[in-house]
Amino acid sequence: MGDQQGLPQFPLFINGESCEPTGGVFTPVINPATGETIAEIAQGTAEDVDTAVAAAREAFENPEWRKMNPEDRAALLEQCAGVIMQNMQELAVLESTTSGGTLARTMNLDLMVVVDVFMTLAEEVRNYPFVENLKPRPVPELTQSAVWKEPIGVCGLITAWNFPLLLLSWKVAPALAAGNTIVLKPAEITPTSTVRIVELLNSVLPKGVLNVVTGKGSVVGERLSVHPDVDKISFTGSTAMGKHVQTNCAMTMKRCTLELGGKGPGIVLPDADLDLTAQGALWGVYMNAGQACESGTRLLVHEDVYDEMVDKLVALSGKIILGNPIEPATGMGPMSTEAHFNTVMDYIQSARDEGARIACGGERAVVEGCEGGFFVEPTIIADATNDMKAAREEIFGPVLCVIKYSSVEEALAIANDTEYGLSAGIWTRDLVLAQEMARDLRAGSVWINDWHMIRTDAPFGGYKQSGYGREFGKYSLDSYLETKAVNIAFQRDPMAKPMQTLLHTHLLG
Ligand code: NAD
Repeated sequence: MGDQQGLPQFPLFINGESCEPTGGVFTPVINPATGETIAEIAQGTAEDVDTAVAAAREAFENPEWRKMNPEDRAALLEQCAGVIMQNMQELAVLESTTSGGTLARTMNLDLMVVVDVFMTLAEEVRNYPFVENLKPRPVPELTQSAVWKEPIGVCGLITAWNFPLLLLSWKVAPALAAGNTIVLKPAEITPTSTVRIVELLNSVLPKGVLNVVTGKGSVVGERLSVHPDVDKISFTGSTAMGKHVQTNCAMTMKRCTLELGGKGPGIVLPDADLDLTAQGALWGVYMNAGQACESGTRLLVHEDVYDEMVDKLVALSGKIILGNPIEPATGMGPMSTEAHFNTVMDYIQSARDEGARIACGGERAVVEGCEGGFFVEPTIIADATNDMKAAREEIFGPVLCVIKYSSVEEALAIANDTEYGLSAGIWTRDLVLAQEMARDLRAGSVWINDWHMIRTDAPFGGYKQSGYGREFGKYSLDSYLETKAVNIAFQRDPMAKPMQTLLHTHLLG
């Protein structure tokens, strides 16, 4: 579809077909690398959410979907992976032109992981214990019990703007694998790849199983999270909004899993390979221009190697190529919006004001051909302390706070001194010490001598205020299933039912 200026329009997708939002409103989608409007997106209403939820409910009630056998469901997930593979390039371009992620990465990493998520879930479905028989047990009458795992129902899946397709796949694949139906709500500013992938997946899924309503969080997300006929919300976004969504869910006791913010600490021990660490720590913080929840945004460096480490970080930061994410040579793209750019600059200023040293970067970057873009220079904040605002709050930009420590105990205390607990890391040659330290780090993922080591069969999620529930593989499947105990009595003789005689004392004669 296209509007009068020839811009592509992305409508809603409900019950197997594209449809206009009830209010008829479309709003611009901006490319953050250029500041230009590249598409228009439907502004869904609460009424649209209701229509989508009704479609998802009807699809869920169809036993052919809900009770599909695991082998057929696995085959369907593989078909989903196939459709995505065939349309990878188109999806990667939509992703990069809205989120600012480099095309080299969205094409060669993100989309590959999306496909892998569906393939891994296909494998998990084949092996998952959907029915488990417990050993018969006299309680006091002999009983046989089975534990069944069943889909929860209609799932509202709400995602953040930074990795729209990745975040979507982490939720959609397990929700489908478990036999649920879905209403998706992508972030306002990066919705195009989500609408397109939903349209593509609907070519293999039954109608009504996967729906998308785009629009404002305060309208669409809010309605989904309070809707009485939505059974589960899986939310990825900020901790503040996660708390609000969790409160909404409590009103109807919806199942709720939350993937929230982070302030990942990386600890550099004095024996670390500093070249490996410099490169890896910058990958940890500058990937997606720092707009990643699991980024390593605080680097805690032992006093013996602190100055050398900062020098290496500064030297390498200067080599990062900023540019249009579409260009193959670009290593780092822009901030997602102008407002977010201003927030990042304010954080850098706060570090200056609190006495830290901007060892490099700290300014707006002007990129040739992308003069309207929202680029921030790769920034190293040296002489930072853990009480500074820039070290405590999620900046979501290419900004690394480098903090000095003098003992392992002190490093662990600083690392854990945060409300978040999503990721943490250790840089050292001593793998025994690293594992000992990993036990003391309060984070859902710990990486040793690397960062962003996310695999599609290992759990990913938060401790503390980084949320709860886990994405990926069987860990994600668990959170899209209800558990039912089915108990079968063996005894037919009423006189041989000792528990019942507690009521029917007349039988005891
Ligand atoms: P956000 O909380 O502003 O928005 C997240 C989603 O919530 C969006 O789709 C938004 O439209 C929606 N929303 C807004 N108001 C709502 C409401 N009243 N009810 C329901 N939904 C509503 O977050 P963001 O700025 O889009 O994303 C950045 C944040 O996401 C960062 O804090 C980042 O750390 C976090 N994040 C976490 C993970 C993870 O896996 N832990 C992954 C990516 C991003």
